[in-house]
Amino acid sequence: MYLVLMGLPGAGKGTQAEKIVEQYGIPHISTGDMFRAAIKEGTPLGLEAKSYMDSGNLVPDEVTIGIVRERLAKDDCEKGFLLDGFPRTVAQAEALEAILDELNRPIDYVLNVSVATEKLMDRLTGRRICPECGTTYHVIFNPPKVEGKCDKDCAELIQRKDDNEETVRTRLEVNIEQSKPLLDFYEEKGYLKSIDGNQEINNVFSDINSLIGGLAK
Ligand SMILES: [Zn+2]
Repeated sequence: MYLVLMGLPGAGKGTQAEKIVEQYGIPHISTGDMFRAAIKEGTPLGLEAKSYMDSGNLVPDEVTIGIVRERLAKDDCEKGFLLDGFPRTVAQAEALEAILDELNRPIDYVLNVSVATEKLMDRLTGRRICPECGTTYHVIFNPPKVEGKCDKDCAELIQRKDDNEETVRTRLEVNIEQSKPLLDFYEEKGYLKSIDGNQEINNVFSDINSLIGGLAK
């Protein structure tokens, strides 16, 4: 099963990725992991990527795509893979199509974990931190025993600036804008499957399972 996983920040993509790779025994291929592995192995492309990163520059598309090609050609991808965080642009998606054509490993589905924007806002703005001891909480996922107070020292919890409503909303809007052309691209190709990520984690996974279960042979 050849899968691409997409989802906005807060959609729970990482959790679902873990569950998918555990259930189906396919490699979880994220951009960060791919870069780290290529650098560690000292491949020519890995070293090239490293020189860009060390000088604080963005790694150019052709280097990233080369690293993706090398990774997807490995034997452990024969049964399948779960790509996460790549592609990010239509140009990268087109390059990926060419790579997978060459490898004869065509995408089965692009899974988009979709969550209502207001729900994402609740998840992403819910983090609270104790200014005294640094313990972090989340008003939904990991609330303190007494609302607004640290369990350890009763200090008044605060919200980081990065987590405030305006910053988070802007970040989400940018992400929505950027992912739209990619979603349209995959919709047109007929790969795109929207997964209802508003539900409880296990129900989201069960929806994914019923969709991809038939691919496992
Ligand atoms: Zn504290």
